[in-house]
Formats: sequence, C-alpha cells, structure tokens
Amino acid sequence: MTKQDELDNLQQQIIDDKVCPELSAGATQLVFGDGNPDADLVFIGEAPGKKEDQQGLPFVGAAGKFLNDMLETIGLKRADIYITNIVKYRPPENRDPSPEEKAAFLPYLQKQIAIIKPKLIITLGRHSMECWLPGLKISQIHGQLKRIKGQAYLPLYHPAAALYNGGMRQTLLDDFVLIPSILKKIN
Ligand code: URA
Repeated sequence: MTKQDELDNLQQQIIDDKVCPELSAGATQLVFGDGNPDADLVFIGEAPGKKEDQQGLPFVGAAGKFLNDMLETIGLKRADIYITNIVKYRPPENRDPSPEEKAAFLPYLQKQIAIIKPKLIITLGRHSMECWLPGLKISQIHGQLKRIKGQAYLPLYHPAAALYNGGMRQTLLDDFVLIPSILKKIN
C-alpha cells in the first residue's frame, strides 16, 4: 500500500467514525489534507474556512495565497509540502474550534503524520501549536525549533492572523526564511 492509499483509508475512516457529527452536518465536506505524502515538511493549520469548505482543500483562500507566496521565497511549491488542519470540518461562522473538536480529530492527525513521517512539523497559529507545545506562548517561541520525542516542530504565527498585521506579518516572514536552515540542522 502506498502512503497515498493509507491517507485515503484514513480519510474514509474519519467519515465512517462520524467524527464531530455536528460540525460535519454544517460543513460542505471534509477537508482532509493536500500535497506530497513524501514531504519533509508538514504544515498544520487550525480548521477550514469558507473557501476550503467549498473546494475541499486546505489553505486555498487569502491565508493560503500568502502561504504560497512565503513558500516561493524559500524555493518551495505547494506540491513539495503536505498541508492539513487539526480540525477537518469548517466550524460555523469560522469560530475557533472547541477543545472537544480538537481532541476528537487529534488521533487522526497523529495517524496522518505517522503515515507521512515528516522531518519537520510546522504549526500555524496557537491552536495548532498547543497540540504539541501546550502551555507555551506563541509570542515567545515562534520561529524556534522544538524537539519532542524525536519529532521536530517549528511553531509559526498563523498566516491569516499575520496577513493584515504589519508587525506579525514581518515576524512570520522572518521566521519563514529560517525553514531551509532549520531543515538542514535536522538532517
Ligand atoms: N486557516 C486554517 O487554519 N486552515 C485553512 O485551511 C484555511 C485557513
């Protein structure tokens, strides 16, 4: 079985297990993840927004465009990375995902990561960071390589939050350009 087959099975499993049925009922579709299953880098956001819900793909709206532009600055394309969210159905009115929703999806996210086996997990925003680095402040640890049980993590600000906030935007851009040297360090 290829990694893509395993990911396809996991996607079906979420549907079969009826994870977060209320979120599912209000969403157009499951937004499972996208990109290269052999990627060194996995980016993890929060939850799908309106565009993502419509298209069934993560980060295809304004935040996704900003992310694509940042990837280009380090010579990467979307096809070089894998990208997903903690919560895989759009929360109504784009509200924050609840702790219960995040907890319900976490085992599936962990399986998704175990299939891909990335060298580096890049968390986007506080919600994603808190899955692995609970109790820490993103304002203090953004851009710093963290290793937990043999897995490397890089917490970054969320591109949607940084998009229209000049200071945060520059910080995210500055952190982003560190990615190639951080990857080298891990290798
Ligand atoms: N914000 C996220 O966290 N994820 C998406 O897929 C889009 C916007």
